[in-house]
Amino acid sequence: MALVIEAVSDVEKKVFEYVSSNDINGLKTLFAQNKIRPDIFDEHGMTPLQHAAYKGNKEIAQMLLDHGADVGSGRHEHGYTALHFAALSGNGELCQILLAAGAKSHATNSLGRTPSQMAAFVGNHHCVAVINNFIPKSDVDYYTVPQGLEKEPKLPPVLAAPLHKFIMQVNVHPIRVALNLQPTLITQMPTVKKVLELMSAKEMRRNMETNEVMSFKLHYLAFVIGEVQRCRHPEKSTDPVELFAKKILRTGRGEEYLERFIRDCVREFPYRECAIFRQMVTSLARGSESPPALSVIRTAINGQRAFADNDTPSCSTCGEEKASKKCSKCKKVQYCDRECQRLQWFAHKKECERPITTQMKLLISVAVV
Ligand SMILES: [Zn+2]
Ligand SMILES: [Zn+2]
Repeated sequence: MALVIEAVSDVEKKVFEYVSSNDINGLKTLFAQNKIRPDIFDEHGMTPLQHAAYKGNKEIAQMLLDHGADVGSGRHEHGYTALHFAALSGNGELCQILLAAGAKSHATNSLGRTPSQMAAFVGNHHCVAVINNFIPKSDVDYYTVPQGLEKEPKLPPVLAAPLHKFIMQVNVHPIRVALNLQPTLITQMPTVKKVLELMSAKEMRRNMETNEVMSFKLHYLAFVIGEVQRCRHPEKSTDPVELFAKKILRTGRGEEYLERFIRDCVREFPYRECAIFRQMVTSLARGSESPPALSVIRTAINGQRAFADNDTPSCSTCGEEKASKKCSKCKKVQYCDRECQRLQWFAHKKECERPITTQMKLLISVAVV
């Protein structure tokens, strides 16, 4: 085993000490008083950034990146990158920070595992979802500049930031996707849809780094926008997002509609040779044994069990995890916020009842007598 021996000065030793003890203030003072290279190595070939990632400390990781730390640096003997360590730490926001700084999501360690696979291996499903849904901002910015003979870019530059955020959203419930189009993307749905379709095709054309999961996700987002567009009335000024949400939330028929349009979306994915397409088709072809189409695409995009092991109830309207607001009347359903409750009220009011207290029961029995 070849150990990497580096001459580490006393100040540099202190850097590792402070990172290991999560002492951000000590670290700040140290960096303020000394000229320190952030990309130094300890006896295991690990950088301070890798140690911060191992600790799951996003504040320290961000500070080191601000001081110029290279997210890809490191000589770990088993080929772990900072993102591998972050994925193991379970801190999704930290994974996001490293990815935004240019961490490679497909880098493999000496066991041939990517950061997302390591996260899945130890059950950090949120990290799997964050890594799988990440896309560099430059991939969106590309469309804001005219290409070749174009006079106008395909995407107005003001839409680049909201579109980037829209793509990386982990929750793929169609109502959440539609709600996330507000307030800006909704104004230019045909343009946004077209760019998403181009991006989906591009993901499949990267020779060595084909990302079929992202390609399908982009196709799916474009497809949902198509459905929202169909809810737009040429004369009436009704909100197409609201109409679309209500179509899905209708008791009975809503579920049928949701199932049908997601199946159509899978069927229309043009890349039928890829593993993700076959995996979804196999799950959907089991007749009455098939899981709901929405959960099939969730698994395909966010990984196995990504949403199955939460004990906090999700939003009744948009499926967002950790919905903290309850219907104040019946306390039986949960929502993210007022908007989600308002959207579902037309259907929920039919089954919403105040729970019957003992006192009320007594009153009822008295009335009956
Ligand atoms: Zn919600
Ligand atoms: Zn209720």
